[in-house]
Amino acid sequence: MKTVHVNDITKEVKRMCIEAAYFLPEDVRRALENARENDDWQLSKEILDQILLNGEIARTEEVAYCQDTGMVVAFVDIGQDVHIEGGYIEDAINEGVRQGYEEGFLRKSVVSDPIERVNTKDNTPAVINYKVVPGDELKITIAAKGFGSENMSRLTMLRPADGLEGVKKFILETVELAGPNPCPPIIVGVGIGGTFDRAAALAKRVLMRSLDDYNENAFYADLEKELEGKIADLGIGPQGFGGKTTALRVMIDTYPTHIAGLPVAVNIQCHAARHKEVIF
Ligand code: SF4
Repeated sequence: MKTVHVNDITKEVKRMCIEAAYFLPEDVRRALENARENDDWQLSKEILDQILLNGEIARTEEVAYCQDTGMVVAFVDIGQDVHIEGGYIEDAINEGVRQGYEEGFLRKSVVSDPIERVNTKDNTPAVINYKVVPGDELKITIAAKGFGSENMSRLTMLRPADGLEGVKKFILETVELAGPNPCPPIIVGVGIGGTFDRAAALAKRVLMRSLDDYNENAFYADLEKELEGKIADLGIGPQGFGGKTTALRVMIDTYPTHIAGLPVAVNIQCHAARHKEVIF
């Protein structure tokens, strides 16, 4: 049995909120550089240069990479042999968000009620997802999700007869409808199967995967590559100015589903793909 104190959780969440906002992940930076090398449209190259320069300025001057510093989504993988002491884990995470957004000078973007829309002024609460896993490790991943891209995400309940072609059509249609709005180049998270809610959760969580990795299942790895090619052909390009670098990656995750359904969720992530993880 491992014991983790809530004060340590708060400290790490605060650190991750600040670092995620300032430092673009290495895999995203590499993918942007590769795209810059491979896109033959001059305007694409120039915009990707600007995006890379923005990342470099944010890193060296320790300022936010984008003005929309997002709503925090946390994934908590808690080993069944972990004991949390000193308080409630959810309060500890929200306190880390509160301190991180204050001390990191990050924009507070959360409203307390979706209709009344009063800013909570500390970017809390986070959206927290829990998973109980075997073992005695506690892993917390946080993502700062901007809403320019979140707003372009979609979910549909296809009929089983729509099949693979229906899935591809929905994904491509979602990217095309989004156009320049989610600040491309984007990362396309796809959840297929499960239920209405599980498909959305898969689409969100798969965005935490490294951009260097393809699906472990060869069929879905091929589907990811095929969709990447088709999205490039849409010609939206970086920031919507044309070119083939519309998506850095398509990443798919799946779950068994019901005989009568085929849920598909597409969660769009902009190139400000800010996430960090810590393991206790
Ligand atoms: S979509 Fe992403 S890059 Fe664009 S404003 Fe929002 S957080 Fe920033």
